[in-house]
Amino acid sequence: MKSNVICQRLSKIKKEFPGSVTLVAVSKTKPVEAIREAYDCHHRDFGENKVQELTQKFNRLPRDINWHMIGHLQRNKVKYIASFVHLIHAVDNLKLLKEIDKQALKNNRKISILLQIKIAREKTKFGMDEAGLKEMLDLYRQGNFQNINIKGFMGMATNTLDKDIVRSEFAYLNELFVKYQISFPEFTYLSMGMSGDYPIAVEEGSNMIRVGSAIFGTRI
Ligand SMILES: *Cc1c(COP(=O)(O)O)cnc(C)c1O
Repeated sequence: MKSNVICQRLSKIKKEFPGSVTLVAVSKTKPVEAIREAYDCHHRDFGENKVQELTQKFNRLPRDINWHMIGHLQRNKVKYIASFVHLIHAVDNLKLLKEIDKQALKNNRKISILLQIKIAREKTKFGMDEAGLKEMLDLYRQGNFQNINIKGFMGMATNTLDKDIVRSEFAYLNELFVKYQISFPEFTYLSMGMSGDYPIAVEEGSNMIRVGSAIFGTRI
């Protein structure tokens, strides 16, 4: 049965927001055919959370796709994506930042990244607290990472049905974003919101949402 359900879901979600909100279609675990379907209805931003899967899909799909690395990234794997990645969303430690800087230089390009801030209550979520953030941004401001463009922040809210908790976590990250934009006016992206919580995220200031299952269906 031929279906264009992916296109329909994409356009439905896009209509919910102004064009200033970037929709990253999270295609992890989904086949290239599903990505191709979204591509054919003019979608260009896709997110993956595993390096091997990302590189395989990059090799099999058109070159004008913007590939977002949204998952936890191990330092020793940066080299596999450094030549083509569009935006790395989840940078939360200095060693990783240094490695991205090094690989960017090797590839003769600047790599854009977002700093992941811990906003959720769960212990399992990655991300920095504000002290870690300050430390990193001080080093960045001093010119230590010449091959990196920090473009903003990324965060994941607590996985809970309590919408007040989710909203307050997003609101906190937006406050932080607005505050740091004073010193870093080049910060442009606030990446927050997934299938279950993106409407709240956008209400609280997100301009980049990472939506998987609401577009491609549930993952098994
Ligand atoms: C999987 C994933 C998403 C998308 O999750 P859905 O609930 O399917 O929308 C967003 N962000 C990150 C970091 C992810 O790993």
